[in-house]
Amino acid sequence: MAIRAASHRIGGSLLEKLLNADGGGYQGSCIRCGKGHSARFVEYRKKGLVTVLTPVDVRRAYYHCNPCGEGVIPKDRELDIVDTGFSPGVRRMMGQVGGKEAFNDGRKDLELLAGLLVTTKAVERVAEAVGEQIEQQNQREQKQILLGKVVPFLGKATIPNMYVAIDGSGVPVVARETEGRQGKDGTGKAKTREAKLGCVFTQTMVDEEGYAVRDEESTTYVGAIETAECFGSRIYAEAVRRGITRAQKVILLGDGAKWIWGIAEEHFPGAIEIVDLYHAREHLAKVAKLVYGVKAPKSQEWISPRRDELDDGNVEAVIAAMSRPRLRDNGAQEEVQTEMEYFRGHAERMRYAEFRSQGLFVGSGVVEAGCKTIFGQRLKLSGMHWTVRGANAIIALRCCQLSARWEEFWESRATG
Ligand SMILES: [Zn+2]
Repeated sequence: MAIRAASHRIGGSLLEKLLNADGGGYQGSCIRCGKGHSARFVEYRKKGLVTVLTPVDVRRAYYHCNPCGEGVIPKDRELDIVDTGFSPGVRRMMGQVGGKEAFNDGRKDLELLAGLLVTTKAVERVAEAVGEQIEQQNQREQKQILLGKVVPFLGKATIPNMYVAIDGSGVPVVARETEGRQGKDGTGKAKTREAKLGCVFTQTMVDEEGYAVRDEESTTYVGAIETAECFGSRIYAEAVRRGITRAQKVILLGDGAKWIWGIAEEHFPGAIEIVDLYHAREHLAKVAKLVYGVKAPKSQEWISPRRDELDDGNVEAVIAAMSRPRLRDNGAQEEVQTEMEYFRGHAERMRYAEFRSQGLFVGSGVVEAGCKTIFGQRLKLSGMHWTVRGANAIIALRCCQLSARWEEFWESRATG
């Protein structure tokens, strides 16, 4: 430890010399401020900078723009340290841990793994700032794509099957973020906000038994707490970026949520729409429970042929079987009616035998796993309460990392 600390210090003093070799980045008595004015040189200012090696002092020429009323420091821009005392390398590490684990655990890991001493609050602030920068980049990219100005990634000439899977999940938020929103049960106040997640992945092969196999490392993720309208543009732009125009088949997978099928209609007309088989099965189980109670053997007797009918995509038979029992309890009868509506409304999205014969996925397991990874393991841990802003920053960060675009983000900062 002592040796390592010493070598850090040597490396650090070298780094400090290097960073100050330019004398401070003086560019003459006047420079452009970036917003069309002239900014005047004032003095040299020192800033303490935490780097991967050690803290250093950086000398920078400070200019001031009168019309903007702001300082301009060209060297900070050059080093990518505007408004921060952490080097890009350190911020990258803070973003890495802050995206993966609770901020306080991230702080401990930075100390253990890199000998880096920072506060929990600093990890939070920096990780969220990185997430916001990623989101700004996402928004710019989305705009360009929707304007048709981005040529999608050119991989193989055609994509046999492109899947767009969408799901939502409640993220616990601080009280003021649910002002005026009702809880799920219709009584109390809501304690969560719905975060939406979309996955895009491709599929070329089926296994020996004819089941669809996802192309390795083909899944990318987008997500946010936002309206279905905003999310619709987000997931559509991602599908375009992934080459949807080269897809022979586009498949939309989701549960029964209305907003998902609204997005399908608006952005993915002509796609094959599939309601997740496992959600449909849950609805069957609910009906069995309403009609026969929880553990009655009759319940099993009833549900087993229904599952076969559902697998066959014979939704009409399932609905007919639901309409037969007459329940005395009016409430239960109404609930069964609602379930029948669910099957009627989604019948064309439940032709599972037909979908399977085409070698397609009929379950939305990928997006559900994505929800667990991106929201569950990071934003829904016990005691966590997020602001929408903070949650969205971390969601952007995690989606970027899990989509294998983390490297790309830092490279674009270094070159841009
Ligand atoms: Zn200015």
